[in-house]
Amino acid sequence: MTTVRVALLGCGVVGSEVAAALAPGSASLRELEERVGVDLELVGIGVRDVDAPRPGAVDRALLTDDTSGLVSRADVVVELMGGMEPARSLILDALRQGASVVTANKALLAAQGPALHTAAAGSGVAVHYEAAVAGAVPIIAPLRVSLAGDRVTRVLGIVNGTTNYVLDAMDTSGAELADALASAQDLGYAEADPTADVDGYDAAAKAVLLARLAFHAAVPLDAVHREGIMGVTAADVASARQEGMVIKLLAIAERCPEAPGADGHEAGHGGHPEGLQVRVHPALVPRTHPLAGVREAFNAVFVEADAAGELMFYGRGAGGAPTSSAVLGDLVAAVRDHLDERPARSRAGGADLPVCAISAARTRYHVRLDVADRPGVLATVAEVFAEHGVSIETVRQHAKRDGEESPVSNEPAEGAVLAVTTHEAREGDLAATVARLAELDAVAAVASVLRVEGV
Ligand code: NAP
Repeated sequence: MTTVRVALLGCGVVGSEVAAALAPGSASLRELEERVGVDLELVGIGVRDVDAPRPGAVDRALLTDDTSGLVSRADVVVELMGGMEPARSLILDALRQGASVVTANKALLAAQGPALHTAAAGSGVAVHYEAAVAGAVPIIAPLRVSLAGDRVTRVLGIVNGTTNYVLDAMDTSGAELADALASAQDLGYAEADPTADVDGYDAAAKAVLLARLAFHAAVPLDAVHREGIMGVTAADVASARQEGMVIKLLAIAERCPEAPGADGHEAGHGGHPEGLQVRVHPALVPRTHPLAGVREAFNAVFVEADAAGELMFYGRGAGGAPTSSAVLGDLVAAVRDHLDERPARSRAGGADLPVCAISAARTRYHVRLDVADRPGVLATVAEVFAEHGVSIETVRQHAKRDGEESPVSNEPAEGAVLAVTTHEAREGDLAATVARLAELDAVAAVASVLRVEGV
């Protein structure tokens, strides 16, 4: 019987689960072998420290720190080390020698995806990466295969479990962000250094992968507009609640009607008729939208397509066992690739849609203003919105309550709070409106500006 040799790079949170599933003689290995119809041999597990403690199900005899030697002995390589190097070089070595690769490394894929896919295509093999976006949630295959015959118009994702956990805790408890983040760290939902999550870097890398698959477009990581959650306050969450909404960190990739140049100016007639917008930021989402029900550290990706309409993929976005489910699914696909010796199905991603600047985005906004509590202020504020072509949908005003602090100075408050929700407007027009509002005598401070999505 044919034997397919599998090399595993990494034996951490995810790798140790995969190592256990592929352990020689295990029931899970037998089941996988039945599914692919051949024997699978785990030829080694690449790690930094072969003497470090490992879970009991890991076969220590397979551990090695000679990762290059390990790759050279494999038909399929599963990369679960993370980081840029040596993961990038090892994956390229594997692809050049004709081994298909499975990886969960979103950071590497976002930065180097086209180069990896080109190398794979050159050898007639593929890079599989279902676990790189939303962990166990199958979203890569639906976008790459199931929806390949449709025209996707928009993808909205909650793709970072840590930030969703923190924002959900703020929504349910009324806590400030620092307290919600500290309790997420205590419970293991957030890292000691949460920067990659709370500043939106992790979600931006996943947004690149979603955009590439949904729109067949090459999107550089630095073209993603990125805002994290650190500016979200308990007052923002409370204001969203009063509007019947909840705040989520969203990764959004959508078609925009016209493609502006990199400087934000619209393209001329010779320009592309349509562009692509990729952005990551906190946004208000109506509680009636399916994404609003994504609680705690769960992930979901909401897809809008011309023929299919609206679809949502939901599940656990991280953790060793859920992520290993996606990795093992990819392993089955990679083994089948190897056995079929089919030509490459990977593609570098066409560059047919230019990326629009954030100033061209069109969405709704929720603007909270700290204003003087006197007659005429509302009219003055409304006039500024109108002057800039931004149409107001609702306005809510309340006098500041006893003890309520100014959002800027933290002084005990006087005056009123105006919460304005707009109809759809162009980001550039909204930014000009906010700049003008900040100059008004009647406006003590622009407390916050948040986008509203999913309306
Ligand atoms: P991890 O726990 O930090 O494990 C990394 C493993 O790689 C360790 O076994 C480490 O060896 C090994 N390694 C790192 N650098 C190495 C080097 N230079 N040479 C040899 N071995 C090296 O990472 P993880 O959480 O399992 O994540 C793995 C990948 O999956 C990452 O790309 C991550 O983004 C992705 N992912 C993770 C999750 C999750 O829930 N954790 C979810 C989705 C995707 P030692 O054990 O000897 O240190």
